[in-house]
Parts: sequence; structure tokens; C-alpha cells
Amino acid sequence: MNAQILDGIKIRDQIKQELVEQIHDLKAVGITPGLAAVLVGAHPASQIYVRSKVKMCASLGLFSEKAELPAETTTEEVLRLISKLNHREDIDGILVQLPLPPQVDTKRVLLAVSPAKDVDGFHPLNVGNLVSGRLGLVPCTPAGVIEILLRSKIPIQGARAVVVGRSDIVGKPVAMLLLHNHATVTICHSRTRDLPAVAREGDILVAAIGKPAFVTADFIKPGATVIDVGINRLTTPEEIRKIYHHPEEPLQELEHRGQVLVGDVNPEDVRELAGAYTPVPGGVGPLTIAMLMVNTVQAARLRRGMRAVNA
Ligand code: NDP
Repeated sequence: MNAQILDGIKIRDQIKQELVEQIHDLKAVGITPGLAAVLVGAHPASQIYVRSKVKMCASLGLFSEKAELPAETTTEEVLRLISKLNHREDIDGILVQLPLPPQVDTKRVLLAVSPAKDVDGFHPLNVGNLVSGRLGLVPCTPAGVIEILLRSKIPIQGARAVVVGRSDIVGKPVAMLLLHNHATVTICHSRTRDLPAVAREGDILVAAIGKPAFVTADFIKPGATVIDVGINRLTTPEEIRKIYHHPEEPLQELEHRGQVLVGDVNPEDVRELAGAYTPVPGGVGPLTIAMLMVNTVQAARLRRGMRAVNA
């Protein structure tokens, strides 16, 4: 079967183009949406993520600011910074890069972000808005998954959708968004009995597990749309040989780059069985930062009582 590749980079670029126009319109009335990224400690992956978020802001003409605090910062100190950002007129979105160091109470910090500026959509008020179908700020990766499906014209209404993973930041909100789009949704997790058989019922299968190539041929209904949220790094030839039936290319990549990125879905199996699928890299990943930008613009509008972009 010749599966359709759902190209996240192309969809991200469409969204960026739309954002440029929306930001231009806001600037015309004197509004420059602003994002503050809070980074505590020198976690290398977090630094890369924050840098790419700030870079995307700059490329779109958004104001952005990076607040870097040392690794030994206390919860109270982070809370003081959040409170200042909550009160700043030029900041529309506050992003707290996770994970925070262990001495910092992550739940208290996330709760302290003003729901109106909560561009990650993690505040309980925004979670409530999402569940009850009210307008609010939706977590970025789940919002990106839905954008891919809608813009690729994958039918969601009436489809059987199976989400593997029930985290607060991916699995649960993806399931809720699929439900709002009228799919019949099953959420699976580590205690699900006969997971492959349940997954195989999905016309749409979303994998958000955090285990490299965990979803194999026996999970995939032939012709299904498979959305792979996972990002895992393989760093040894043994790991690659375990996953790939034809490991030559990834082994070469490992030699060149020192790592191979793989999702939560077996890349060879999905290519063979699915009707459409998101590759890793280049699928869901690019959408996550784009949706953060969408949320920043949305927050700037909603905070000023303007109509939401998608309303
Ligand atoms: P979590 O670790 O928070 O959640 C993983 C979920 O997978 C849990 O609900 C867990 O079940 C379930 N799970 C784990 N093992 C199994 C198993 N053997 N069988 C069935 N279910 C299982 O991860 P996240 O949701 O934060 O992230 C998931 C993946 O998505 C990761 O690879 C992460 O890197 C990636 N990610 C990618 C992003 C992007 O921009 N593309 C953004 C965010 C995440 P249980 O609840 O029972 O423990």
C-alpha cells in the first residue's frame, strides 16, 4: 500500500503564513503579541527548545523574552517572576519550560500562570475550558495533531479513534479534541488489556507513549491514519537492529549524526500498513511550536476582548 505522508513541515509553514497576516493586522492597531519563556537551570534539551521558540517569534515579528533563572532557584523565586509577568502589559503568553528542577514545585508554578496568558494550556481553568468545549488556550501538541488531521482532510466525524497514552499534556487533550470533532474515542494506557487488538480498531490511531517503535504492525488497522507523537533517540546499532527490518540507512545515519530519531510507531510497519501517517521527524514535532505561536496571538486577542481567530 502507498501510504500518504502527512507532512508536518508543510502544514507548519501554512500556519506560519496565516500568522504573519494576523500579526500584521494586530500591529496595524498597535498590538505586538509578546511571549515570555521561563527557563530554570541549564537543561540542554530545554535550552534548545526555548531557543527555537524565541527564534520562531522573531521570524514572525512577535515580541519575545527569555527569562533564565539558575538551577538552584526556589519555588518562591519562580512564583515571583511569574507574578511579574502576569502583570506585564507587553506579555500575552507565558511559557514555563518543563522539566523544572526537582526543588521547584511544578504544579504550584503552572497554577500561578494567569489562565489568560497560559499559552501551553496547562492551567486547570484551560483544561476545564477544553473539556467543556469553551473557548480557551489548548495545549500545543494536541492542537497540532488536530490541525494535521483537519488540514489533511482526514475524516474525523464518526471515525473510531484510538489514543495510546493518557498524559495530561498529550494523550488526554488529544482524546478530548477528537471527541469534540465527533470521533468515537478510546483512550489506552499501560494497563489496557490486549492493547494491539484495541489499537487495531482505530481508523485514527494516535501514539503518545514515549517508547521507541512500540506500535508495530499488529496495532495498525490496514488503511488507518496513524499519528505518531513520540520523539525517541536511538544511539546504538543494537537499538536500531531491534527496530528496523532493513537497518542499513538508519545505521548510516547513526554513524553520521550519532543518533537516529524514531517515534512511538515502527516506521517500516506504518509505511506498509497505514493509509496515511506522520513521519518522525517532520510530522507532529513542527506543529508544536507553531501552535504555541497561534496561542500567543490568540491570547493577545482574547485578553483585549477581541474576537478569537477561529471563532
Ligand atoms: P508520558 O510519559 O507522560 O505518558 C506516556 C503515556 O503512555 C502514559 O499514559 C502511559 O500509561 C502510556 N504508556 C507507557 N507505556 C505503555 C505501554 N507499555 N502500553 C500502553 N501505554 C503505555 O509521555 P507524554 O505524553 O508526555 O509524551 C509521549 C511521547 O510524546 C513521548 O515520546 C514524548 O517525547 C513525545 N512528545 C512529543 C511532543 C512533540 O512536540 N512532538 C511534545 C510532547 C511529547 P500510564 O498512564 O498507564 O503510565
